[in-house]
Amino acid sequence: MTTHHDVREKSPAELRAAALEAELVERGLITPDAVDAVVEVFQDEVGPRNGARMVARAWVDEGYRQRLLADATAAAAELGYGGSEGEHLVAVENTPGVHNVIVCTLCSCYPWPVLGVPPVWYKSPPYRSRVVREPRAVLAEFGLDVPASTEVRVWDSSADVRYLVLPRRPEGTEGLDEAALASLVSRDGMIGVAAV
Ligand code: FE
Repeated sequence: MTTHHDVREKSPAELRAAALEAELVERGLITPDAVDAVVEVFQDEVGPRNGARMVARAWVDEGYRQRLLADATAAAAELGYGGSEGEHLVAVENTPGVHNVIVCTLCSCYPWPVLGVPPVWYKSPPYRSRVVREPRAVLAEFGLDVPASTEVRVWDSSADVRYLVLPRRPEGTEGLDEAALASLVSRDGMIGVAAV
């Protein structure tokens, strides 16, 4: 990912966190790299695992897939996920003809219970404005080239509706069990800026 998506103002909470981090680093208690690593684990690994388990379940269980597409909030609750910032969840399914990508053009609405904390670039003004105007160009910058024959649909999240992309199951994964399939699913795949 290019770094131009990372430019933005720091919130008061972030400034406090940065001050705390500086203090801990100065006392030799932690290293900046360790802090970054922890944050990245939560953003990329711990948080999105709930969503990944839902995706894997939908890939192996047609009944669950249909329930997920009909009412994603209820389908999340089936696996024990829900709560604040995830009350009205909608799953959008990628197919050979349609690729979905999610954004919040107003701020940073995001389905926390299933995807964890939003990545910095998701909250950045360039992503929020450009993915609507030129989604294919933005996706290409993430390394995802969507064929011209595939329609790109951009879903604008809000406080009322949070989206989750159901990626296509990769070819050659017929022999994998649900847990192995879940490990293939990335946060970016469920935002729609990666294939899976
Ligand atoms: Fe928002």
